[in-house]
Amino acid sequence: MDHFLYRGGILHAEDVAIPDIAAVVGTPFYVYSAATLTRHYRLFTEALSPLPHLVCFAIKSLSNVAVLKLLGDLGAGMDVVSGGEYLRARAAGVPGDRIVFSGVGKTRAEMRLALEGGIRQFNIESEPEMRALSEVAAAMGVTAPVTVRVNPDVDAKTHAKIATGKSENKFGIPIARASEVYAEIARLPGLRAVGIDVHIGSQLTDLAPFEAAFTKLRETTLALRAEGHDIRRLDLGGGLGIPYTRGNEAPPLPTDYGAMIHRVLGDLDCEIEIEPGRLISGNAGLLVAGVIYVKNGEGRDFLILDAAMNDLVRPAMYEAHHDIVPVIEGAPGGPTQPFDVVGPVCETGDTFARARELPLLAEGDLVAFRSAGAYGAVMASEYNTRPLVPEVLVQGDHFAVIRARPTFDEILGRDTIPEWL
Ligand SMILES: *Cc1c(COP(=O)(O)O)cnc(C)c1O
Repeated sequence: MDHFLYRGGILHAEDVAIPDIAAVVGTPFYVYSAATLTRHYRLFTEALSPLPHLVCFAIKSLSNVAVLKLLGDLGAGMDVVSGGEYLRARAAGVPGDRIVFSGVGKTRAEMRLALEGGIRQFNIESEPEMRALSEVAAAMGVTAPVTVRVNPDVDAKTHAKIATGKSENKFGIPIARASEVYAEIARLPGLRAVGIDVHIGSQLTDLAPFEAAFTKLRETTLALRAEGHDIRRLDLGGGLGIPYTRGNEAPPLPTDYGAMIHRVLGDLDCEIEIEPGRLISGNAGLLVAGVIYVKNGEGRDFLILDAAMNDLVRPAMYEAHHDIVPVIEGAPGGPTQPFDVVGPVCETGDTFARARELPLLAEGDLVAFRSAGAYGAVMASEYNTRPLVPEVLVQGDHFAVIRARPTFDEILGRDTIPEWL
């Protein structure tokens, strides 16, 4: 459930009419609902209670500092995958002991940054990384809390670009090598194993791959304990999928996911960490765009929007579907027509949808892409020198711009012409 509903035929974000935001901010823009973000975060904390747990929001899905502050103030931890994301979490007021550091390519500078600022744990993804972290921490005279991300060789049955739990993926250490790797951690200076970690992919719409992975994690935890490693923290990653098409799909709910975790892992006397991104942020955001032109082609009509693939890359990159809805609701049973919905970027890939049935739309009308909160604004670029898309946060009857659209002076000012030219 989200808080983007029609009232009197006009799409609202909570109690704010979308056209009112568009009048102030211009299009395109992202808009997020504070109530929806809060609700989704709480679904997870409720699903995991009464097990000791920490829900670490995967910042990479939506990284605006205002959103992080909202979630951090509710008690959320953060899952970061870069030094920049670590700084975002800190800027939002999240203490280091609620931040976990994931990612296959942490640099020594990033390790130092997190060790200086405070960190709950590093999720180690390879043996070279483990040795580098040992050196960095030992040189600083500190001990780095770590988990090892094991790769359980489970097929997440999701889009190939976002599946991470098969042995051919670049992520984690083969689960069969866990014993050797934990033994080396115990010998190395500057490291202390606090738990074990797994993340098998994103947009999973079935609990079975999770259950298969968590069952292997359970066996490995028991084996490691028998070898003397005090594993007390299980980081289960993120990846729970969301419905992108209204009414069609019904991915598992956080409650079902929580119940499965209780059943498979509840007796291990461990603190459970999860790292959901998409399920918290995905349906908490819309991308709102204006219609520049309606172009009648041969056998098809194009809706040319002022949003493009640089603002929302998921359709071009993952063949992703987003529901597209008019901001002013069409009359029930009123006429519709199929449109190819495209942006102005000079690439055929800049196509959001083909033959999408929509009410008759005209120049200047507004449309909204649903489920655009996750992997939307964070993946935006300024390709074609299109200013980075702004972000707006709504809470109740008020809204604020939480990232302004840059001016062309700012954009051009970032380039420097060398004096020898
Ligand atoms: C991407 C990622 C997540 C979040 O995935 P979602 O599908 O957005 O829930 C969590 N943990 C790790 C390690 C990730 O790479």
